[in-house]
Amino acid sequence: MRSLPMKTTLAPLAMLMLLLAGAGCKVDDASVISQAADVHKGLQPAVMDDPQLANYLQTLGNRIITAAKQAEAKHIGPDSHFQTDQSTAWMFQNMKFHFVNSKTLNAFTTGGEHMYIYTALFEQCQTEDELTAVMSHEFAHVYCRHVQQGTQRQYAIMGAAAAAGVVGAAVAKDNRVAGATAGAGVGAAAAGFLGMGFTRQDEDEADKYGFYFFMMGGWDPNRFADFFKRMIDMGYDKTPEIASDHPSLANRVENAKRRISELPKDYTKWKKPNTATPEQFAALKQRAKDLGAKMPDDASLQKAQQLLAAFPSCVSSTDNQPEQVQARKQIQQNVDAQQKSK
Ligand SMILES: [Zn+2]
Repeated sequence: MRSLPMKTTLAPLAMLMLLLAGAGCKVDDASVISQAADVHKGLQPAVMDDPQLANYLQTLGNRIITAAKQAEAKHIGPDSHFQTDQSTAWMFQNMKFHFVNSKTLNAFTTGGEHMYIYTALFEQCQTEDELTAVMSHEFAHVYCRHVQQGTQRQYAIMGAAAAAGVVGAAVAKDNRVAGATAGAGVGAAAAGFLGMGFTRQDEDEADKYGFYFFMMGGWDPNRFADFFKRMIDMGYDKTPEIASDHPSLANRVENAKRRISELPKDYTKWKKPNTATPEQFAALKQRAKDLGAKMPDDASLQKAQQLLAAFPSCVSSTDNQPEQVQARKQIQQNVDAQQKSK
């Protein structure tokens, strides 16, 4: 799969722009789903196209989604999930978890039907629990409709898509976009994206509900914070929380401990065996590493990886890792050059 012709992406984007220009600060699910599908076209070259890896990830994802469905039935979730005017059925139907080939340590969702687990993160996971804690967190962003909550983030992702070349010409030629971004056009949209991700509150909330999905999906809640602990050990928690848009990793670990202490005594009734044995898990990691190394390192993969590197972080307490900064700078330059050539 390669980037599709512009015509296929212009219509939903133009519709989204009209909607954003006219509406307040929220967008509806249909817009986010279609936008996420557009962004996915730019990321597709980095998706690990291997049935064994894909099936494993989706099996884990389906356990999380089933748990979230049970949570919904018990009315567990924020107000943004229980809106009366929009169905949540889509969140439990066509959701796709993807392994993407990237050297960046991250996981991300564009808020629609796609969630991305970077292979560099998978490589660092020592257990299935660590991997599924991150996946539950990503699904919780979707469940809580965090992307739908603010246009800033909408522009952010759109800017990223434009930069990836998926929708570049379509966005730049659409005057409504320039109007909607205070006359500054797609450059501003991309610039907005550079400093924009989920807010600290969003991250907290995604941890809160991710924790429940993780437990109700059958994993041990005492393991939920293991990956954050590993990241602290790797030196990812150097920025004081006050100077960051993200919760510190230490706080995320503390919050998980507090949530465990608040659980009813019979919480172990949810526990199920892990999907993969430790040996199988190690073999899957090795498979991802081997197949990743064999993927043709062409321009489309590099473009997708640049975008993956630039996305805001869901697992680090800072959004200023050197490669992230570098990727954003390059994307900004590409967008500027694209603008000048018009
Ligand atoms: Zn997050």
